[in-house]
Amino acid sequence: MGAAPPAPAGLRFIRAPNASPLTLDGTRTYIVGRRRPAILDPGPELVPHLAALAAAVADAGSATILVTHDHPDHAPGATWLAARLGASVLAASAGTLGPGDVVETDAGRLVAVATPGHAADHLAFHWPAADAVFCGDLMLGGQDTALVAPPEGDLTEYLASLERLRALRPALIYPSHGEPFTDADAAIARYLRHREERQAQILSALAPGAATADLVMGRVYGAGLDPRLRAAAAGATLAYLQHLERVGRVRCLEGGRWTLA
Ligand SMILES: [Zn+2]
Repeated sequence: MGAAPPAPAGLRFIRAPNASPLTLDGTRTYIVGRRRPAILDPGPELVPHLAALAAAVADAGSATILVTHDHPDHAPGATWLAARLGASVLAASAGTLGPGDVVETDAGRLVAVATPGHAADHLAFHWPAADAVFCGDLMLGGQDTALVAPPEGDLTEYLASLERLRALRPALIYPSHGEPFTDADAAIARYLRHREERQAQILSALAPGAATADLVMGRVYGAGLDPRLRAAAAGATLAYLQHLERVGRVRCLEGGRWTLA
C-alpha cells in the first residue's frame, strides 16, 4: 500500500461531529477554492462545525453553498452558514440548482450531475480541473454500498446514476462520508458488482417460495445484522424487490408477499 496521493490544490474539508453507523465518521464538508470558494454540504445545524466553516472561508471575497441532497446530515446547516457569510445556497430542493448547472470557483468550475437513487433530488458535482467528482451519498468511503431505500430511494435510478458517474471517468471520488476513492473506476465496478450479488441473493431467497419482504431480509442479511442497521436493511430489501419487479424478475402478491416471476 502506497501513501494516498495528495488532495488536489484548492481542496479542503472539515468533518462534522455527527458520526453514526450511517454517517460513518461524520459528514465531510468540502471547500473548493480560496478566494471564491464553493462549500459543499454544510451538514447538520451544529454551530461549532458551521463556525469552523465560516472561519475557513473568512478571507474569501464571496462564497457559494452547494447541497447534494436534502437530508438532515447534509443540508440544514446551509441556512445558518448562508446568513453568517452573506452567501447564496444552491440546492435542488430550493429550486436554485439543477443538472448541468455550473458553479465557478477560483479552483475551477463545478458541474451539477443528476444522480438520483439514494434521494430523488440528489446531485453530484463534477470538478473537471481536478479530475474529481463529489458524489454525496451515492457512494460511502471504504465501503462497497450506500443506502438506497424507498420511498426516496430507487435502485433502478441508483444503478443508472453509478453508470453516469462512471461515464465521467474521474480519477478521484470524494464521498460525503468516509475516505475518498483513489481507484474511482474500480470502486464504481465494486459498487455495481455488490448490487448484482445482492439481487442474486434476493432471488435465491425467494426460490423456496413466496415470502414477505421481512423474511427475505432475514434470509439475505442474516442474524449478524447490526440492530441499528435493521431499518436500513428493511428499506434496502424493498428497493431490491421493487427494482426486480420492474425488470420482470419478481411479482408482489396480495397481502404483500413476494414471489419469483
Ligand atoms: Zn443522504
